[in-house]
Amino acid sequence: MQGCCEVTVTTMTDLSTTALLANQHESDRETYTTQSGTCCFCGRRVEGVPVDEAVSHQYFSDYARMADDTGHVCCDCALCMDQRALKQGHWIVTAETHERVSTGDLHDRFESLRDGEYDPPIAIHVSKNPIRSEHAYLWTPVNEQLARPAVSYDRQCTTLDWSVYETVLTLVEELRWYGFRGDDIRSGEPRVSDLESIGADRFREVEEMIEPHRGTALLEIAWTVSRSRDDQPTPPTPTDE
Ligand SMILES: [Zn+2]
Repeated sequence: MQGCCEVTVTTMTDLSTTALLANQHESDRETYTTQSGTCCFCGRRVEGVPVDEAVSHQYFSDYARMADDTGHVCCDCALCMDQRALKQGHWIVTAETHERVSTGDLHDRFESLRDGEYDPPIAIHVSKNPIRSEHAYLWTPVNEQLARPAVSYDRQCTTLDWSVYETVLTLVEELRWYGFRGDDIRSGEPRVSDLESIGADRFREVEEMIEPHRGTALLEIAWTVSRSRDDQPTPPTPTDE
């Protein structure tokens, strides 16, 4: 687990990821403003509704995300929790846009993020299972910069150092080129045929570089982005040999 330290700081400011999302879908925000209080999720003092009105206890299991037992959910968090369309898939939200990103487009979007084609504030979520509903906006931080953005994956969060990300992505692509499956990369235990294909020496080199990232959101994001590229990994460069 790594890089979650920025979450607390960024979500406790006057801007939350739910506020960014709600700004893009604000037509019925007013229906969620029946009381004042401090939001138990984002910590902001914003008009909202009682917890029992915002949270469907039958389906909700993220009580650990409640920073405080205030009994209040702000209109932005409440609106997000009420909109199924905001709960699924990969997404990027800024002050100007809310993009639902297909897995096939993730690679291009990450290049755009790295190349500064989006303006902060910005929040970025990569889903482990794009068709499953999740309250990722509750734990996806707002970034005020894209030099080292925090990105959520599943229920984790990582700070993306672009050069490390590029390195891990290239390594994952190389392993996939030699036939490695996701679980082989996660475990570091390849099938015999794949090990023969990449060669034991090169595998040891790659393994040494992958090892520090095992179990992290970064490796999972690299794997997800890699798979997105027509399911065809980029060949390793000859100089790697
Ligand atoms: Zn809130």
